Amino acid sequence: MPNNTGKYTEDDPVKIDLKTICDYFYNEDLSTRQIQIRYWKRLKYYWNNFSQVFWSEQQGSYLINGRDNLNGEGTDDQSYYDRPVNVFKAFLETIIAALSVNIPAVSCTPDDADNPNDISTAKAGNKISELLYKHNNAIFLWLQALYIYSTEGLIACYSYVDEDKKYGTYEKRNYKDEDVTGYFCPSCKQQLDEEMVIQARMIKEQLNTKYDPDEEDAKLEEYEDDKPLRLNENELIEPMVCPECSVEIDGNLQQSTLAIPKLIGVTQHPKSRICMEMYGGLYVKIANYARKQADTPYLAWLFETHYVNVLEAYPDLWDKIERGSGFGSQVNDTIEQYARLNIQYRGTMPEDNVSVKTFCNEEALS
Ligand SMILES: [Zn+2]
Repeated sequence: MPNNTGKYTEDDPVKIDLKTICDYFYNEDLSTRQIQIRYWKRLKYYWNNFSQVFWSEQQGSYLINGRDNLNGEGTDDQSYYDRPVNVFKAFLETIIAALSVNIPAVSCTPDDADNPNDISTAKAGNKISELLYKHNNAIFLWLQALYIYSTEGLIACYSYVDEDKKYGTYEKRNYKDEDVTGYFCPSCKQQLDEEMVIQARMIKEQLNTKYDPDEEDAKLEEYEDDKPLRLNENELIEPMVCPECSVEIDGNLQQSTLAIPKLIGVTQHPKSRICMEMYGGLYVKIANYARKQADTPYLAWLFETHYVNVLEAYPDLWDKIERGSGFGSQVNDTIEQYARLNIQYRGTMPEDNVSVKTFCNEEALS
């Protein structure tokens, strides 16, 4: 739901209702949220070596006093004599260093240790976690989480599946069932050469003649399953067997029609990855009364970005977003927008940014 100028018009009543719900929760406990934001933003300034900041009620943000103010406000001779030492960052960095010696390990255990499937699943889980560590640069992510914890208190991790060719591609073989008429092995359904079946039939006929009970010598040489069959002294009969499963081919095998999957082509598909992103209280709004995750009726993910990124994600908003004006002219959430602004701006504004507010409910969180 980009753009919070209040100019959102939509004909679809469902969209209007959804907007109403989102607005309701966005405005819930607004004054508490603004106090939190002010506090977090001040800590961000402290972390970035700006210790002389003051709150401007008029701008709805902190201003930097002294020579670090790019607009030259509050600059006097005194600021050239001040040599503030950043104790805040130094102290927290020691704690972060101590807490980041080890990244919390993921250890999967089987639900039922007697079930071999559960054990394999648990082993695979451990391997997958190692892969996720590598893909997401877990060490850096953990450090970022600790930094967010030090300056904002709330840590939120957004994990999602991203499918893209930049992760590589895999081949998918596409099959289509086709009816094929021919001889099929009764055991493994492998299609058999017609030659083999003909030969099996011939062998059967030869055996029938040889062991015909009407013949005199039939009694001398009893037919036995485990003995190699012989036509005569020198000629051994090799029974025809299925090349796939080695089952003897029956000479009475008849033609049949079977649906056989045929390879119709190979297509390239992008690989997907689980991506993780860390955010703090400035970017995520949840209910302050929630005692556990399931208690919060909503979660709002708020951020500013260039309007083209919003259009890429939400093409329907093509004619609804004001562009090229900078949110300087569209500010109506002054405190929120200034608070999330990169400290590098130091009182100036980005040119083409719009605010994005996305909401999800408790069900989507679990
Ligand atoms: Zn077979």
